[in-house]
Amino acid sequence: MKEKAPVEKNETYTADVVDLTYEGNGVVKIDNYSLFVGNALPGEKVKFVVTKVGKNFGYGRVLDHLTTSPDRVDTSDKDRRLAQAGIAPLQHMTYDAQLRFKQHQIENLLQKGKLAIDVLPTIGMDKPYHYRNKATIPVRLVNGKLETGFFRQHSHTLVPLEDYYIQDPRIDKALIVVRDILRDNGLIPYDERTHRGLIRNIMIRQGYYNDEMMVCIVTNSTKLSNSPAIAEAIREALPTVVSVVQNINNRPTNVIMGPKTKVLSGKPAITDKLLSNKFEISAQSFYQVNPQQTEKLYDLAIEKAQLTGEETVIDDYCGIGTISLAMARHAKEVYGVEVVATAVEDAKKNAKLNKLDNTHFETNKAEYQMAKWQKEGLKPDVIVVDPPRKGLDETLIESASQMAPERIVYVSCNPATLVRDIERFADAGYAVADPIQPVDQFPQTPHVESVTVLNRIDK
Ligand code: SAH
Repeated sequence: MKEKAPVEKNETYTADVVDLTYEGNGVVKIDNYSLFVGNALPGEKVKFVVTKVGKNFGYGRVLDHLTTSPDRVDTSDKDRRLAQAGIAPLQHMTYDAQLRFKQHQIENLLQKGKLAIDVLPTIGMDKPYHYRNKATIPVRLVNGKLETGFFRQHSHTLVPLEDYYIQDPRIDKALIVVRDILRDNGLIPYDERTHRGLIRNIMIRQGYYNDEMMVCIVTNSTKLSNSPAIAEAIREALPTVVSVVQNINNRPTNVIMGPKTKVLSGKPAITDKLLSNKFEISAQSFYQVNPQQTEKLYDLAIEKAQLTGEETVIDDYCGIGTISLAMARHAKEVYGVEVVATAVEDAKKNAKLNKLDNTHFETNKAEYQMAKWQKEGLKPDVIVVDPPRKGLDETLIESASQMAPERIVYVSCNPATLVRDIERFADAGYAVADPIQPVDQFPQTPHVESVTVLNRIDK
């Protein structure tokens, strides 16, 4: 049997921070028992209070830094509510340290797997804040007033906010304007305990190259009284708004959007560009949230694919086809597969919009479609994969290697599954060619994106 934990809840302790978890929490040890503490960096000595005691590890909250790390940023000028909301969990680290942290995470996992593969320094942003082109903000009643903000971490208590730090400032400004218009019109915010009230969320998208904005009001029923006047007031106060839409979500769920979206004024979508392709982005389309860094990431993927215009390319997990369309300009043929049907519709529409008729899109699970293509005899020269956090299905690795492409370009958002999949690819005859290149898509947060190239080893 395990011994009792050597700490008590609500007691304070002092310890050295010895490591950082992949979530960016500091690790402290009391008699070999680990506790995870936010806002604590390796090398620091901290006083902390224990907030949770588990069987194998616990959690704590920093009360005081007795020594500080050279990697620390003074956050005393920042709104404390930002930290409460967990919007920017690494904001207490210098940006250089954040970039090193991301590189080291991949390195550590490779070392654990005994893989001798290098990782390059993370490609960062010049201004690692104000980057998000989309915000989805809950609307709730706080002290009798309609407020917009963010939920306090691990809760559904709204913390009112006006400066979100990592969002395009034009979005922050627009949120205040829309909030005030909703207040002026006497609209009632949603209450999730009673499932009553009307206004659930505000979603705003801002184009990066095109100065076009969409405002989407997510409501608990179709009845948005006065909606023409509200839409007009929004467009009058925010002249770059080209689309005001209402999304109806009357289910008692945490899922933000419902299935139906109604145009209240203007167009149903904004248009933006990404690597010389135009995209129409409607309220429910998935679109990358950091356009500057996405261009760097995809540019790199294209460069690593070494396309000459003669290749057949497969883009697995293609979403709305951002990678497919970018590659289609440099390849003979591109085949994309994605499980979300509306995303595939967007991909087809965007291919037409850009007159790229060398693209083919399928709605299917990537692992099923790959098996199908393999059986049908499709012979790609390059396969690109950009899977969700859980990584690749084992059968996809099988089909991919049986198709025997020259190279596989792996865009990853989770180093743990990337390393696992690299090991599986090695068994299937593919080896990592160049060092892995992390690209920071989410500054101030612990998310790690990277590009890896696997080459076929001739046996
Ligand atoms: N490159 C894309 C985004 C990839 S994100 C873009 O920029 O738009 C990962 C995508 O994988 C998501 O669109 C998700 O819907 C899709 N997905 C998740 N599981 C899948 C599966 N089993 N088969 C195919 N697509 C899947």
